[in-house]
Amino acid sequence: MIWGKKRYTFVIIPDANSSVRRFEVPKLIPYIAGAGLLSLVIVTLTLYVLHARTAMVASDLQTRVKSQDTLYATTVQEKNQTIEQLQNEVINLSRQTSDMKTQIDDIRKLEDEVRTITGSDKTTAAVNSASSGLAMGGTNRPATDDEVQDMLEQTRTLLTDMNEEVDKLKHSIVNTKEAALAVQKKQRVTPTIWPVDSRTITSGFGLRQDPFTFRPSFHSGFDISAPLNSKVHVTADGVVQSTGSDSLHGNNIVVSHSDGLQTWYMHLNKINVDKGEKVEKGQVIGLVGSTGRSTGNHLHYEVLKNGVSIDPKPFLK
Ligand SMILES: [Zn+2]
Repeated sequence: MIWGKKRYTFVIIPDANSSVRRFEVPKLIPYIAGAGLLSLVIVTLTLYVLHARTAMVASDLQTRVKSQDTLYATTVQEKNQTIEQLQNEVINLSRQTSDMKTQIDDIRKLEDEVRTITGSDKTTAAVNSASSGLAMGGTNRPATDDEVQDMLEQTRTLLTDMNEEVDKLKHSIVNTKEAALAVQKKQRVTPTIWPVDSRTITSGFGLRQDPFTFRPSFHSGFDISAPLNSKVHVTADGVVQSTGSDSLHGNNIVVSHSDGLQTWYMHLNKINVDKGEKVEKGQVIGLVGSTGRSTGNHLHYEVLKNGVSIDPKPFLK
């Protein structure tokens, strides 16, 4: 109540000639005005601080977004590089697959050649050549994803085909090997090699003038002249059927082979094998001589089929 009644008096003196003006205000007003001013200052400061803070956070966020952007761009670039690298690998893989297919075809051709040698039937023609491989062109535009995808698909098909082909090849090569082994076995029991190193045939198979009687006679084998004690080789695998000596054949050996074939070696100086002995093609069974009805050192070599003398020539290499 006392505060309410007390008053301040303000006096305003404009100049010496004018009258003085005066007015009164309650004593509380200046305090209220001061408090209002203080509040305003506090509010202003608070707002300023808040604004500064927000600006800082915004700037920080902006920086972060920027760095995220850079990181993202780098990642995308890296991923693109990886994709390109993978696509190149697909292309390389496809080329390698295509090369391998060519090699498989070559192996098949080789196998067919071997089969021709062994006299077996040829394998079925190359299973398929559906995949056209890689055509190389002159343009140089970047490959599209679809093209690379297509190539991948082609390569996959080619690999599947090749897998089947290799499987078939494996089987047919086993057959070819068996055929080759059969040929080899046949070769071993067929008298295809020369019984002596010499190739000098002094008398062939067939009709001739007998060297002793000078009358026409049939010569049942080859006379191959060779130095005394030259090695005599058995011309095929077999078993010594007989060894003996007589005035006509001299020291002689008969070896039996398969398919009713026999070979006969005459006029030997020495016999190295015994009856019943197994002999291997090329083995030395005796030495060249001039025993029996002979005019000089030579081997009379005879081939018999089912007991009948035949020309040895077709057998010889
Ligand atoms: Zn003879």
